[in-house]
Amino acid sequence: MSKPLMRIPYTGPLPPPLIIPPSAATRQGAIAALTHFLTSSVSSSAPIHHVSNTPSKTTRSDKTVLLTGAGISVASGLADYRGQNGTYTQNKSYRPVYYHEFVASHESRKRYWARSFLGWRGLHRSKPNATHYAIRDLGQLGFVNNVVTQNVDSFHSLAHPKLPTVELHGFLRALVCLSCRKLMDRDAFQARLAELNPAWATFLQELLQSGALDTENPVERRRLGLRTNPDGDADVPGAPYTTFRYPACPSCLQRPPILSDGSKGHVEVDKDGGWSPSNSTNGVGILKPNVIMFGESIPASVKAEAEAAIDGASKILILGSSLATYSAWRLVKRAHEQGMGIGILNMGGVRKEEAFFGDYQNHGGDDGLSALRRGIVRASLPCEEILPAVVEQLRQERGQ
Ligand SMILES: [Zn+2]
Repeated sequence: MSKPLMRIPYTGPLPPPLIIPPSAATRQGAIAALTHFLTSSVSSSAPIHHVSNTPSKTTRSDKTVLLTGAGISVASGLADYRGQNGTYTQNKSYRPVYYHEFVASHESRKRYWARSFLGWRGLHRSKPNATHYAIRDLGQLGFVNNVVTQNVDSFHSLAHPKLPTVELHGFLRALVCLSCRKLMDRDAFQARLAELNPAWATFLQELLQSGALDTENPVERRRLGLRTNPDGDADVPGAPYTTFRYPACPSCLQRPPILSDGSKGHVEVDKDGGWSPSNSTNGVGILKPNVIMFGESIPASVKAEAEAAIDGASKILILGSSLATYSAWRLVKRAHEQGMGIGILNMGGVRKEEAFFGDYQNHGGDDGLSALRRGIVRASLPCEEILPAVVEQLRQERGQ
């Protein structure tokens, strides 16, 4: 039986990016190399290690599966983790709330929801960008058959609802009840948070008026008193989280859930419907964002879906991810073990990327042609500039 897969943040240093072939250092070179990558069949000279229960190369499509990360949403105004203005770069003391803390502690949940209450508006206003629409086009042109994303912003489903996307770390557009597993819409939840926390709702209005939530520049936001982090999280220095209230699951309130020991669960709430810890040590009716929090395991079904997406393609292209999260890195390792073509377009270093490109480097890696033949591309340029140009190039080649 395979081990559960846990989402763990990685904050160690990353090496400088590899550039393969050397021509991919320039914009034109990277566009040419990626266009070739998407249109070529992978040469069988690539190392293939036998992996049981995966389809043989002959049954695979010639298509590319995409693996995307926070880097592609920066152009939509969201913070990433390790970029120039990334959370770990700008805010060294940032530490996300872990799953076990969220589940076990009323205080942790208050802190989480207070910050999320302020951060949600920024995420909610943000829209998919040129990268997401280029991905839609690659799907329509028939080069890409699946997307696996680590992002929780739902931009993929907005930009390309027809191209299947596995959301490896869930999504913020809904909450899930830890007792009955029913989902609740995030906008409805946001309205309840405003009702339960009028002082915070006023503060949010003030922030809106100050313009701190209008600017997409993280440095300017900080100047106006607001820090934003990935996953729709915001940080207000000195704000009293202890008074923050959050609603209980409306379904559990209406119909008490049956607990794992067979007993009927009871949800404690205050007079306004705010979740109250007074009687429930186990915590019935607690709503959690429907994302895989740090320290939480990815459901087996999602893990299997992501693996099937990898196994159904002959090449994998990583966009805007430093693969710092092991759950993403191991998917690329899986592709590498099957001899799949590997392309990475990410600004800056990628965790242990020499594991995927080492063979190539050891065999006199400056010959650009051999890299292209073996289905290897590595560039460190912005996705939102390069990917739409690749789509344009592919259309020209097809005479469209
Ligand atoms: Zn419930």
